[in-house]
Amino acid sequence: MVRRGMLVIRRFASAVCCIFVSGLVLAGNTVQVRFLPASDSETQAIKQVIEQSPLVQDVIELMRERYRLSERLTIQFGGDDDPAYDEEAHTILISYDFFAEAIERFENANYAETGVTSQNAALDVLAHTLLHEFGHAIISMNKLPVVAKEEDAADSLATLLLIERFEHGQDIALSAADMFALESEDYERLEEPDFWDEHSLDAQRYYTTLCHIYGSDPDKYADLMEEVDIDQDRRELCIDEYDVLTNSWNALLAPYLQDSRKK
Ligand SMILES: [Zn+2]
Repeated sequence: MVRRGMLVIRRFASAVCCIFVSGLVLAGNTVQVRFLPASDSETQAIKQVIEQSPLVQDVIELMRERYRLSERLTIQFGGDDDPAYDEEAHTILISYDFFAEAIERFENANYAETGVTSQNAALDVLAHTLLHEFGHAIISMNKLPVVAKEEDAADSLATLLLIERFEHGQDIALSAADMFALESEDYERLEEPDFWDEHSLDAQRYYTTLCHIYGSDPDKYADLMEEVDIDQDRRELCIDEYDVLTNSWNALLAPYLQDSRKK
């Protein structure tokens, strides 16, 4: 179901500008990456996988090369926080545990049977999560208007950037969608706090991500819609929705592109 591919964006720049070390990585521009020390050998292995992932490096490169940020953005791996964006410190926080748990969830679901290893699927989730948090960052730094749930906006930006800026980005987004589906299985029944949550329900995040993947290329993903049995009217709306979101994000982010020629 999932096929991994090469990325559209330039890879060479990452070798030049970001040398990953245990402490601080200064990139000479507005995105810096910090890996906190690992507390044990298992965490050390997780840290190394993230450090050495070309996909993670390409995601960071996309943020760095494509956008002008008004503040220096730090991406910090390690610590105890769930994925989050700290508005005051201008920092994206991702714990090693988050990545380890993603691998475990995919392993427990025998995800390798789809043709994608649990580790690679977890890296896809990490890519989507980094771009989701980047969405919060760019909204916050530039005080962008948000007229519905910001969490949904951040999800849509992550999916769109993967699809539009990475070759086979839909496959990366599919792993992220599948993680939402796995997380939705945690609930035997939904309680009131689940509906109060600032995020949409995990099941909704799953279907919405699939909807946008389909909307980006209806011919290619017609089978996907058959699998999840969505009616034709909703499919058409997915196509419209993807179009509206793409245009909206392009308009919102146009003033913050590094170089208008990269549009
Ligand atoms: Zn969020």
